[in-house]
Amino acid sequence: MQINGKIIAGGIAMGKVCFQHTDYDRFLAAYRPARADIEKIRYTNAVSQAKQDLNELILSGRTDKEGQEILKSHLAIVIDPSLENMVFSCIDSGLSAPKALLSAIDDLSQPILLLSDEMIRERAADIADSGKRILRKLLAMEEPAFPDEDIIIYADNIEPSVMAGFSEERVKAVLLSNPSETSHTAIIAKAKDFVTITGFDAARYNFLENDTIIVDTFENSIIVDPSNADIIDYNKKLKKWNSKRAALLDSAYLPAKSLDGKEYTISANISTPAAIEKAVTYGCNGVGLFRSEFLFMESKKLPSEDEQFHAYKNVVTKTADSLCIIRTLDIGGDKKSACITLPEEENPYLGYRGIRFSLDNKAIFKTQLRAILRASHFGKVAIMVPMITTLYEINRCKRLISECKKELGAKGILYDPKIQFGIMIETPAACLMADVFARHVDFFSIGSNDLIQYTFAADRNNPKVSHFFDCYEPAIIRCIHNVVTAAHNAGKWAGICGEIASNPLLLPFFMALDIDELSMTSSSIPAIKEQIRHTSSSTCDLETILSFDSTKKVQKYLESIKTE
Ligand code: PEP
Ligand code: MG
Repeated sequence: MQINGKIIAGGIAMGKVCFQHTDYDRFLAAYRPARADIEKIRYTNAVSQAKQDLNELILSGRTDKEGQEILKSHLAIVIDPSLENMVFSCIDSGLSAPKALLSAIDDLSQPILLLSDEMIRERAADIADSGKRILRKLLAMEEPAFPDEDIIIYADNIEPSVMAGFSEERVKAVLLSNPSETSHTAIIAKAKDFVTITGFDAARYNFLENDTIIVDTFENSIIVDPSNADIIDYNKKLKKWNSKRAALLDSAYLPAKSLDGKEYTISANISTPAAIEKAVTYGCNGVGLFRSEFLFMESKKLPSEDEQFHAYKNVVTKTADSLCIIRTLDIGGDKKSACITLPEEENPYLGYRGIRFSLDNKAIFKTQLRAILRASHFGKVAIMVPMITTLYEINRCKRLISECKKELGAKGILYDPKIQFGIMIETPAACLMADVFARHVDFFSIGSNDLIQYTFAADRNNPKVSHFFDCYEPAIIRCIHNVVTAAHNAGKWAGICGEIASNPLLLPFFMALDIDELSMTSSSIPAIKEQIRHTSSSTCDLETILSFDSTKKVQKYLESIKTE
C-alpha cells in the first residue's frame, strides 16, 4: 500500500510495530493517592511486578548479550534500595507514590545528564527507563510491548523528550499521526536518523501492534507482514541505500562549492552538546543553531552558569575555526521545561515564549549570556536570540550583553569582545522591519518553522491547519528574499536554520540569493553539500520565482530546475 502522510526523512526500514503509549499525564491525573503507608505498599508492589517482568525478560532469552546486560542493569536500578529510600522520603513529605517516584528519578538522573561522558550519561536514560517501568505498574498501565528486535514506532502524540529517549539502535522508523513536520518531536526523529513520516493515518493499514512491516519511502510503500520474497528484496534495497549513504558520508568533508565556484556554508542544528560529534562526522561547517533550551528542558533545576558554560564550551571547542551560534533559551510553545513554570496560556505560540520570557527573567537570561560569553573565549561563538519582533527587544538584549561583558571583565574572566550578535527572523514583524533591524545586529538567521506558522497564522502543531504550512507559498518566498536582501544591503549576513534549509527543491533559490549559511539536521548535510556541487548558483532565476502568485507555480518551477 502507498504511504499516506509526509515523508520528512526518507529511507527503508523493517521492524515490528510498536504503538507508543505516552499518556502518563492522563493516568497520573486519574491516580487517587492514599495515606503515606499505603502509598509505600503500592510502591513496593509495583517494584515487585517490575522486577518480575524484568526477570522473565532476562530468562526468556529473547535478547542478545548486550540486551541482557541492559535488562540486568535496569533490574539493579529497580531494586536499588537508595531509589526506594528517596521515593519513601518524598512520600513522607506528602507526595503520592507516582509523583515521589518521578521526583526521585529526576534527582538521580539530573546530575548524570550534565556529565560530558556520553557512556555515563546513558545511565540517566537507564534510570528513567527503569523508573517508568515501575511507574506503569503503579498507574496500572499496560506495558508497551517493545520487542527485542528492530522497531517501527507508531505514535499518536508524543513529546519531544519522549522521542529524544528512543534508542537509535532499535528504532528504525517513526510514523507520527501529527502532520506537523516542524514539531520538535518530528525534528528530533529526523535528527536521530529515523525514517520519519508525519501525518500518518494508521487506520488505513491493516496492521496491529507487533506486526512486522516494511516502510519504503523510495517505492512509497508500506508492506504489512512481508513475504520471504519481500524480505529478500528489502535486504537488497537496504544494502544499496546503506552504500549510497556511506558514499555521501565519505564526501561530506568536501566543500559545498557550486558548479560556478561559489562556496556555501552548511552548518548543523544541534540540541545537545553530544550531538556535535555526529555533526562533525557529517561534514558540518560549524553550528548554525544550538537549541540551548534542551539543557533546560531536561533538567529539574535551572542549569547554573558553570554547567551551561561547560556544555557550550564542549561544543565550541569541537567546531574548530567554524562559527558556533548559540541560541538563547526559546522556551514556550511546545517546548516545556521541568525547571521553569510557565503560565497556562490559551495560545502558547502567541504568548510567553522565546525572548519575551528571557527579557522578563533577567537573572536566567544573564546567567545564560555570561555562560555563552565565557565559552566564546574558546572558539568562534555567536549569540542569537529567538522570536524578535521589535527594535526595543534587540536594544534590550544588547544592553544586557554589555552588562554581562562588564561583569565578566570586572572579575577578569575572558570572553571574545567581538562576539557576534544575531537575531532569528521568525515573525512577520521581523521580516517587515528587516532593513531597520539589519543595522543593529551582525546577522539574521531565518527560523522558517515559526516564520511560516506566524505568516499564515497557522499553529505548526495543529493538524487542522497543516495545509497552510507550505514553504512554496509566494508569501514565504518573498519573506526570505526580503530578509536576505535587507541583510546584504546593510553589509550583514543572513542564514536559514528552519527545516526548509535542507529542502532540496528550494536549494537553487537559496543559492541564487547568495545565502550565507544553511543550517540543518546533521544527517541532511552530506546530501545538500553534494547537491550544491552539482548545481550552479544561477540555476534559479530570482525574477521568475518572485513573479509567481501560487504555491503550485513556485513548486512546478523549482521541480523544472532541480538538479540531482
Ligand atoms: C524555527 O522556528 O525555524 C527554528 C529553527 O526554531 P525552532 O524550530 O526551535 O522553533
Ligand atoms: Mg523557532
